[in-house]
Amino acid sequence: MKEVSLSNNLTKLAYIKAKLFEYGVTIGDMANIVYEEQKRYEHDVTMAYAIETVEKVLQKREVQHGLLVAFYLDGQAQKGLLDYPLQYIVEEDRPTFGVDETLAKTILNEYGSIADSNWGYLDKVKPGIVGELNDQQKTGGKITTFLDDMVSAIIASAEAIVAHNLDKGH
Ligand code: MG
Repeated sequence: MKEVSLSNNLTKLAYIKAKLFEYGVTIGDMANIVYEEQKRYEHDVTMAYAIETVEKVLQKREVQHGLLVAFYLDGQAQKGLLDYPLQYIVEEDRPTFGVDETLAKTILNEYGSIADSNWGYLDKVKPGIVGELNDQQKTGGKITTFLDDMVSAIIASAEAIVAHNLDKGH
């Protein structure tokens, strides 16, 4: 797919959405998981509201900066341009690496403990686009070592917004 370059005409948010799309990730894909997971808690969550929360998370500067780092590192690894030994660690998504998870946690920290537990769940179950990103790495030859954790963190954070805003008991 065509490389997207960051120009003065392209806002960070537009760049991020274009990069996500390169990996086949849309707002709708992420919102769909937010909706499916959160409707189980009997809130009045709608798909429209799920989309709104994902958009809200993507507008946060900490999230944008984390994503820029994730895109860059995965992208450089894809081109084989990281220095040894980081290149093979990222390329092989070594389970003991953990810096990808740590980067995702910087987002989750902004949204509280619900976001954190949602993220753990998504990592285990890998629904929808989360699983697809994982498959891209496993069988598609596309490096998503950082991005898969970040996308899960965006979804988990959006879910936390839904949970907090639509909790009828408070
Ligand atoms: Mg990862």
